[in-house]
Amino acid sequence: MSRIVYVNGQYLPEEEATVSIFDRGFVMGDAVYEVTSVLEGKILEFEGHMTRLARSLSELEMTCDLTRDQWLEIHRELIARNNVTEGMVYLQVSRGNAGDRDFHYPPAGTPPTVVLYTQSKPGLADDPKAKVGIKVISIPDLRWHRRDIKTVQLLYPSMAKMAAEKAGKHDAWFVEDGFVTEGSSNNVYIVKGNKIITRQLSNDILHGVTRASLLKYAAEAQMEIEERPFTIVEAQAADEAFFTSASAFVMPVVEVDDVALNGGKVGPVATRLREIYLDESRKRAI
Ligand code: PMP
Repeated sequence: MSRIVYVNGQYLPEEEATVSIFDRGFVMGDAVYEVTSVLEGKILEFEGHMTRLARSLSELEMTCDLTRDQWLEIHRELIARNNVTEGMVYLQVSRGNAGDRDFHYPPAGTPPTVVLYTQSKPGLADDPKAKVGIKVISIPDLRWHRRDIKTVQLLYPSMAKMAAEKAGKHDAWFVEDGFVTEGSSNNVYIVKGNKIITRQLSNDILHGVTRASLLKYAAEAQMEIEERPFTIVEAQAADEAFFTSASAFVMPVVEVDDVALNGGKVGPVATRLREIYLDESRKRAI
């Protein structure tokens, strides 16, 4: 049975879903997106993703008149129609079909293109990598400077993932002016003593939905948090490291540029935070 996807108000088999070749998302990368995880058929962090979507749209002067309840209904409909118990919902809004290619935005009132689809991932919460941890390389951060807007311009992060793969590792951490900004598709943290250190929010990083919740849960669990930049050398001397993202939750990092952390084993803080995050997110799933 083919997957049912959503395109501009219609639910269609994926083979029948189309978007114009003139779409601004296709021609200019002029689109924003969100990825929301599903566990036990329920949506995690829905409000956080909707708040960030609204902000991304507004920062780019894009409009989309779907309400929070309509977004929720589409998410739920796709999850139900595709029998997703564990996986993700991908959502993309582009500036729509501009007709002829033009750098200027199309006239106000041009409808955006709205696409959503599910990706079923049984076992998402039991990723075996979370037990052994992942290894990262560092790479210069060559992205644009509005990383706080979640756009589909993901070529450089793709190149970074390919560079990590070529080096036999799992992911890449971006470095700018000597400090780590974030991972190729995640926010990053180190642990030293009883402190969790992560870069503060600014236009230099995406404001992770997972990050916001995790820091709240960590504070509630009396853990100490310091929001500031750190270097690769500091990360290599840390007790532990990990990253967060909507689809990987909390993922331990056991090696940074060939230097093992915690003897190359997943540490207690990352393990505990992953448990807390999954428990709390499941409780709040809708
Ligand atoms: N930073 C970047 C560059 C990302 O692509 C992502 C994943 N979307 C994140 C951080 C983590 O954000 P979230 O927790 O909202 O998935």
